[in-house]
Amino acid sequence: MVVKIFKGSFMENPSKLENLYAELEKLYQLLEKELTGLNPGCDRCGTCCDFRAFDHVLYASSIEVGLIARKAEIPDFNVADNICPFLKDNQCSIRDLRTLGCRIFYCNPSYKQILGEMYEKYYHMIKDLVIRYNVQWKYRPFLNHLVYFKQYHESLLFNKQA
Ligand code: SF4
Ligand code: SF4
Repeated sequence: MVVKIFKGSFMENPSKLENLYAELEKLYQLLEKELTGLNPGCDRCGTCCDFRAFDHVLYASSIEVGLIARKAEIPDFNVADNICPFLKDNQCSIRDLRTLGCRIFYCNPSYKQILGEMYEKYYHMIKDLVIRYNVQWKYRPFLNHLVYFKQYHESLLFNKQA
């Protein structure tokens, strides 16, 4: 894949990207407060991070993965294994950085509807943020994103086609 990079105003003003990530982290904090109030329950067994075992596809947007790529090293991994490479000893090794889908997924079926609605709400808040900052909005399986970000890092955020 040939990736053409258009950094535009981010080259002139690198703090813009910092601001974008700061706003994303604030959204995550807001979400955590809502989830604490809801309390769907989770014993952090890590099973749902093994997508193969759980028959689950985790989707994420490029900006969520950009934040992870900025603050953590993406381990070598094989997409075909279908296990999140950040799962270490059944625990998330990047808990503060994890994606919207990671945060909102609970295996308790009683909360499926309300969590689905909450996901929609935050998905749109993140999308609005990305549109406001004029960076890439790409929504695809998390593991696929990680492959691209491992290779191209944050430059992907400035390429609307990648
Ligand atoms: S980032 Fe963390 S919470 Fe999300 S799937 Fe990976 S290990 Fe699980
Ligand atoms: S949501 Fe369920 S499967 Fe996932 S870590 Fe929590 S208890 Fe385990």
